[in-house]
Formats: sequence, C-alpha cells, structure tokens
Amino acid sequence: MPLFRLIFLLLIGFIAWKAYRLFLTRGARQPPTPPLQDMVRCTVCDIHVPAASAVRCEGKSFCNEAHRREFLARSGME
Ligand SMILES: [Zn+2]
Repeated sequence: MPLFRLIFLLLIGFIAWKAYRLFLTRGARQPPTPPLQDMVRCTVCDIHVPAASAVRCEGKSFCNEAHRREFLARSGME
C-alpha cells in the first residue's frame, strides 16, 4: 500500500521536524554566558585583577591603592 507508506513517512518527517524545532528553542532559552572580563596584572604582586577594579597609574595596573603607593615609593627611590 504505497499511499499508507507515504503518509507514514510524512508523519515521521513531521515529528522529526517538531523535535528539531523543540531542540532549537531549548538551546535558545539557555541563559547567555557572561562576557569575559578583561584581567590586568598587578605590577607589585603579579595578582590578576579585573580591569574595572584595578588601580591605574602611569600606564601600569595595581590590585589596590597600597600597591600603587608602594610602586611609586620604590620607583622614587631609584
Ligand atoms: Zn598587588
């Protein structure tokens, strides 16, 4: 019965298409991964800190104000 086979194949194709659409929708619903933060290295202690929270001075980056002062004191002595 060729007609029955044709309908059966169409039904299988329809189910596969629906499953594929569901798969795509689920993938789209996943929360986006957070953007990678720029990390900079502290000139004094070599710790990596987010660029947004780093202390910057004379083109160099520091993890906190104390290390910036430490660097300035050290470079001032030389
Ligand atoms: Zn530091």
